[in-house]
Amino acid sequence: MNYAQHFNPSSTPQTEQADPRQVKNNAGGFSFQLDVWKRLDRWLILGAEGGTYYASERKLTRDNAKTILECLALDAGRTVETIASVSESGRAPKNDAAIFALALACADKNASSIALHAVPRVCRIGTHLFHFVAAVESMRGWGPALRKAVARWYSERTPDQLCYQLAKYQQRDGWSNRDLLRLSHAKPKPEHAPIYRWATGNELGARSVPGNDKRSRKAREYASVGELPAFLAAFDELKTADQKRTIALIREQGFTHEMIATHHKNSADVWEALLEKMPPTAMIRNLAKMTTVGLIKPLSSVLPSIAERLTDEAALKKARVHPIQMLSALMVYRQGHGEKGSLKWDPVPQIIDALDAGFYSAFGAIEPSGKRLMLAIDVSGSMGNGTIAGVPGLNPRMAAAAMAMVTARTEKQWHVISFGHQLRSLPITPRMRLDDVVTMLSGWDGGRTDCAIPMIAAEHNALDVDCFCVYTDNETWAGNIHPHQALESYRRARVTDARMAVIGITATDFTIAKPDDPGMLDVVGFDTATPNILADFARGGV
Ligand code: CA
Repeated sequence: MNYAQHFNPSSTPQTEQADPRQVKNNAGGFSFQLDVWKRLDRWLILGAEGGTYYASERKLTRDNAKTILECLALDAGRTVETIASVSESGRAPKNDAAIFALALACADKNASSIALHAVPRVCRIGTHLFHFVAAVESMRGWGPALRKAVARWYSERTPDQLCYQLAKYQQRDGWSNRDLLRLSHAKPKPEHAPIYRWATGNELGARSVPGNDKRSRKAREYASVGELPAFLAAFDELKTADQKRTIALIREQGFTHEMIATHHKNSADVWEALLEKMPPTAMIRNLAKMTTVGLIKPLSSVLPSIAERLTDEAALKKARVHPIQMLSALMVYRQGHGEKGSLKWDPVPQIIDALDAGFYSAFGAIEPSGKRLMLAIDVSGSMGNGTIAGVPGLNPRMAAAAMAMVTARTEKQWHVISFGHQLRSLPITPRMRLDDVVTMLSGWDGGRTDCAIPMIAAEHNALDVDCFCVYTDNETWAGNIHPHQALESYRRARVTDARMAVIGITATDFTIAKPDDPGMLDVVGFDTATPNILADFARGGV
């Protein structure tokens, strides 16, 4: 009897525990549990919109709420700082996960005072504030501290900034500026007084309001306030202005498309005026509209400047444009029609190329590692379900391939493979356009999941790899050896200090990386910081 055949400490089926720290993942295999702070990072960057193959959006959100509360109990200051700094840096495709986490922190007794101070850092525009208020109101009451935090959001802006915000973001999620200014009992500074009066729909002149308080029937007196800023006066005029005047006002005041009347939005001349100072995010979102109205067309004079602005690294960073926004715009624009509604257009190839280039520009500068990298993309069934950052038609598998392209484009020595339960070649190169890569993967199904395949294949095919970059949801279960064991075996067979970086694609709490092995690292997919962290790690750092 050979009992050893039933027990090999260096090779355990993935459906069995190979290490006491492992837990059962959603697919029934065993993975390590991700450190709680890394789980917080995953939540902040990936969120849960659209859910995953295994977990609904609701379940994923509830699981992550527990993680956020766990972090708050461990160290409230660190938690709030992480939420605010991830949000400020623009590393995440969307700000919604940070707003939710901040609202939870504001409802936590021990964290609320620090968290309320971070509101202006996370809620930078009116829409964020409305989202935040809608979230926080379902978690806690309106105490004086919350009122003060909301009031401060308005009072800390210069009059110019405040006018812009009030005109651009008037209401969302059932909340308006009028509601929030009233509810927060915001007391204006003299230079804000006319602006607050305007936003709450009150006269700028002196007025007297009859008292209805049971204790005091005395009328409340309001003194007259200063003049309405020219921007808001012009904004009021804009509501009834004809097209010629609208164009003049856009050029004078820098009005954005949100501020102008809907019936002027079918004019190429209006959009040309808007385009002059259009922020990058608005430009990316309105390429189709500008094509429909005939401003963007073949040989149009606006094409070179749009292409230049879509690839201006500094401007994209300042506006916190995320590469996923570029990819999303690229995929929609090229198809020539919207997801919903009747908008149709003839895509202009230069715009498609500019969005493709803009995707890379939005990552900023990336320092190559100079090492030999295997970029291994999990294409198993589960990677084909769910959407990334709520982008229709962009599943985890497609987005993972786009992330791999970023590294392949930066490095000299790269080898891209894909895997499910077996190795599958993936004929993509960084010279291809992203939408072609993504389309190639859209219908793939690599079957069951075995995340050990990249290491097994490299050993079997005698490939020298310094760093395995595995893009996966970590729901591995179908192999006879755990991924960390396969890496250990590869190190014994070929490259003794080979490393493995796990690029987590979904906000679950699993990882295939062994926690105490410095040669294994967890990073978050679709984090703009990821390509540089990967290169650092491949070089031997982190
Ligand atoms: Ca899978």
